[in-house]
Amino acid sequence: MGELRMSALIDTFGRVHRDIRVSLTDRCNLRCTYCMPHDFAAWMPTEDLLSTDELMTILEVGIDAGIDEVRLTGGEPLLRPDIVDIVARINSLPNPPKLSLTTNGIRLAALAQPLKDAGLERVNISLDTLSAERFKAMTFRDRFDDVLKGIKSARDADLTPIKINTVLMPDVNDDEAVGLLKWALDEGLKLRFIEQMPLDAGGVWDRSTMVTADDVFHALNPVFSLTAVEARGSAPAEEFLVNGGPETVGIIASVTRPFCGSCDRLRLTSDGQLRSCLFATKEMDLRSVLRESDDSDEAKRAEIALRFGKTVLSKLPGHGINDPSFIQPARPMSAIGG
Ligand code: SAM
Ligand code: SF4
Repeated sequence: MGELRMSALIDTFGRVHRDIRVSLTDRCNLRCTYCMPHDFAAWMPTEDLLSTDELMTILEVGIDAGIDEVRLTGGEPLLRPDIVDIVARINSLPNPPKLSLTTNGIRLAALAQPLKDAGLERVNISLDTLSAERFKAMTFRDRFDDVLKGIKSARDADLTPIKINTVLMPDVNDDEAVGLLKWALDEGLKLRFIEQMPLDAGGVWDRSTMVTADDVFHALNPVFSLTAVEARGSAPAEEFLVNGGPETVGIIASVTRPFCGSCDRLRLTSDGQLRSCLFATKEMDLRSVLRESDDSDEAKRAEIALRFGKTVLSKLPGHGINDPSFIQPARPMSAIGG
């Protein structure tokens, strides 16, 4: 792990930015209904995506400015053909950041061990149901068994602790909160329920029917004794000890109890746009600095560093989902990087 360095990435509200979520592609091999329509096809042209060299330059600048944690995501990051090489290159930087990855798990059976060998520390795997039939209905793909195999491979490769991300939707899978937690405890996985956010490409989000963090708590609490864990830091999940611990369950109340006040995250899209927030309506173009200027490498890096600083300074105090004037960002979650 890298040495502790001062961060230059402090916003006007005093939040220090140390974490970047990096989308490696907007493409995906599932079609989760809360993320994209089943016939979604508005992918970015491949030539728009950052090359791995371009990505590495941006990460090096970000790390010099104080970033010490990188989460690879997408779309589905394991669809990036050189994913193992990307992990190895990040891990061999002079100040390697903490490195993790969020995936739907489908390609993990093949990739878990190579990723571990390349220096990946741990994975988050998304799974919303324990029923193969439901999985098919919720993702428009018959890949439930592949996800289970992926989880097993991640455990065998010691990509731990493995966190499972679950989104519950009314009358779809909201009856599975207890079953999913029992399963996660049995399997030694750290389950986190995430409130559904208005970030899908199909506009299906509906505040009036969404499953809230309180709904999840009230579904779990009669069966398990849940005790709030105090120290949360900049982590989005409210953690609860289950039956006195040591196991925990996380509930991420992005909509009903936003945690923007302690947010330390930036996001880099796969086409090289830096965002201060999932819900930002403006982006900072880093790709054009690398592709369209004749400046020296040093000057390009200086300009990218400047743009990192400007992005942080533009960060609003909150995501505004609950403001009457809220506008859903033009980019869906799959194109920002969740
Ligand atoms: N494809 C990978 C996966 O599914 O894990 C990584 C990208 S995905 C966009 C990252 C996380 O965002 C997943 O856990 C997914 O469940 C979550 N997600 C996607 N759309 C969401 C939405 N509208 N609200 C809340 N979470 C969402
Ligand atoms: Fe793909 Fe992840 Fe979106 Fe599901 S949540 S469609 S797996 S990007």
